[in-house]
Amino acid sequence: VPRYDVIIAGVGAMGSATAFELARRGKRVLALERFDIPHNMGSSHGANRIIRLAYAEGPAYVPLLRRALSKWREAEQLGGEQLLYVTGTLDIGPRGGELVEGAIASARKMAIHHEILSPKETMQRFPGYHIADDAISLYQPDGGFVASERSIITYANLAIAHGADVRAREPITSWRTTPEGGVRVDTPRGIYEADSLVLSVGAWLTDYVPALKTHANAERQVMGWFRPKRPELFQLGRFPCGNISGRLVNGTEGHIYQFPMWGLPGVKFGMTRHVRAFGHANDLSRVATDDDEAHIRAGVETFFPEANGPLLGLRPCLYTTTTDGHFIIDRLPDAPNVIVASPCSGHGFKFASVMGEVLADLATGVAPPYDLSLFRLDRFKAA
Ligand SMILES: Cc1cc2nc3c(=O)[nH]c(=O)nc-3n(C[C@H](O)[C@H](O)[C@H](O)COP(=O)(O)OP(=O)(O)OC[C@H]3O[C@@H](n4cnc5c(N)ncnc54)[C@H](O)[C@@H]3O)c2cc1C
Repeated sequence: VPRYDVIIAGVGAMGSATAFELARRGKRVLALERFDIPHNMGSSHGANRIIRLAYAEGPAYVPLLRRALSKWREAEQLGGEQLLYVTGTLDIGPRGGELVEGAIASARKMAIHHEILSPKETMQRFPGYHIADDAISLYQPDGGFVASERSIITYANLAIAHGADVRAREPITSWRTTPEGGVRVDTPRGIYEADSLVLSVGAWLTDYVPALKTHANAERQVMGWFRPKRPELFQLGRFPCGNISGRLVNGTEGHIYQFPMWGLPGVKFGMTRHVRAFGHANDLSRVATDDDEAHIRAGVETFFPEANGPLLGLRPCLYTTTTDGHFIIDRLPDAPNVIVASPCSGHGFKFASVMGEVLADLATGVAPPYDLSLFRLDRFKAA
């Protein structure tokens, strides 16, 4: 049976970065991916993901975020390609609202470079934005986006260059611990053994850790690209990324996120959790509908009327949503050499660069230099 130091299941955002970190440390790595590298069936496609710095989700994320930024720069340097684009980010919501006030409090506490803008100031500086009189904006000049598929490609190439055995279209079908204290993995093409296993399988996590079934659910999202009426307002360098919560033209409450024109034709928008469709990752529809478009367009029409032109693309994508919205990064209690890595819940990509390092530590018995207690598995038992 072929033997490795670490087997990684899933070569997406987290798995590709982990494969690189382990291979660079001289470990024998087998990294197996169910689909192609990259692909559009998981959580990481659609060109890019926002990186915002003020993190209202909790102080545990902050040191990870700081390290993630420098790790993205390192990946760029090693891979010879820009991955992190600093566009500035805007968090906008009704004064007193949870999203924006939480982000402002976190920016102050963390001493993150930021400005608070009135609606008028926001629209003067960034005329693509159209926001309500009662809104407040947090502008972070150092925020931006990470090129998501390009990052996976960069990390996969770096891993291979450092000797990792990276393979596509070879899903793990099962795993078990061996009496010698290792892990044995089955795939349709073979059987492999290693000292440890990293399960970075994204939205498929519960197939391999059934105990998480009530705590981590695949959730369908759809991203949309629109042809702007005034493209000059939405260019990279002119239009910051961001997110806005508030009342939409159709009378509902919504939360939209947006990116400048980059990577794919048009301006990219998404409505967070617009349909609340949960299910198994294999069953959730990857076909976008008119209804998906209507949900996103309501947000575009409300906050970005100059971008509300013809549709240029709709791409469904999966979150792995945990019951408390926090990541899962832990060893399995009954198999400590199996590491679960699902930093998701719709906000994990920005951390992939540092997660590679954290997971490489966990897989080789090194204690990561971060407080990871928020991400432990036993919090679900307590709940
Ligand atoms: C629409 C959308 C918008 C988002 N916006 C943001 C954002 O703005 N900022 C941000 O930071 N985050 C954002 N996120 C979240 C972020 O994209 C995810 O947290 C991140 O992509 C998850 O990475 P992952 O490695 O866990 O999953 P993936 O990249 O999906 O990787 C998991 C991989 O495992 C593979 N796999 C599954 N089963 C097996 C198996 N049995 N054997 C081998 N391989 C297997 C899958 O095919 C997949 O390639 C967003 C997510 C979505 C869907």
